[in-house]
Amino acid sequence: MRKRWFSLVAAGLLLGSTLVPAAPALAAPTFKVPFPCGQAWSGQTRSDHSPANAIDFNRTDDSGDPVVASAPGTVDRVTDLGGTSYGKYVRIDHGGGYTTYYAHLSGFNVSVGQTVGYGKVLGWVGSTGGSTGPHLHYEQRLNGNDIQVRFNGSLALYWGTKTYTSDNACSSGAGSGTVDTSGTPLTVRSGPGTGYSAVGTVADGTRVTIQCQTSGTTVTGTYGTSSIWDRIGSGRFISDAYVYTGYDGYIPNVPRC
Ligand SMILES: [Zn+2]
Repeated sequence: MRKRWFSLVAAGLLLGSTLVPAAPALAAPTFKVPFPCGQAWSGQTRSDHSPANAIDFNRTDDSGDPVVASAPGTVDRVTDLGGTSYGKYVRIDHGGGYTTYYAHLSGFNVSVGQTVGYGKVLGWVGSTGGSTGPHLHYEQRLNGNDIQVRFNGSLALYWGTKTYTSDNACSSGAGSGTVDTSGTPLTVRSGPGTGYSAVGTVADGTRVTIQCQTSGTTVTGTYGTSSIWDRIGSGRFISDAYVYTGYDGYIPNVPRC
């Protein structure tokens, strides 16, 4: 889960409506290089690019290579502009005003409305639209304005050409989270519900690896009310309502149990 609502509710009760602090700006997603794990791509920025902060990616024989989502989100555009501009492009809405663009694709592998996680193949490198050779044109935007690209929080090279090696979805198939109970150890159950036997506890603040997620007993915890349970080992389940995962609901890329 992501949102901590207990503290917000408490703040509202204690402070009254006039002193509730403004909501903090949402942190940027952790963007990854938009190619599969381990691949090295040459990324070029140049001040006469349109928009200026976009990156053009290339590698040897790149035509037809898969292009992947650089962060989880919802596909909100799968558009073919024909022989102009982006040509075939995909846009992902990451929430918080952040979007990413993947342009000049040769084809699409997603549709509008689809939820995607790290490493999801969106389409393939092509040379559609106003492109003169195969490459991926990639943008990060905030509230519609192109921003300087960051991967894992690190600013890309402006201006010039640099090799970027992808760590996108290198550990796909498992997620992670941090137990937050405000002090009390969290009970581990043998199955996804409070009716299953207790098989141990995890201490507040423990970092856990989430092998898979499933639906079970509804629990109200630190991060609200949820019926999601996280499997953290063989026959070991904890309620997602007490786990900070960075996501509301299921974690993209983590399988259902
Ligand atoms: Zn470009």
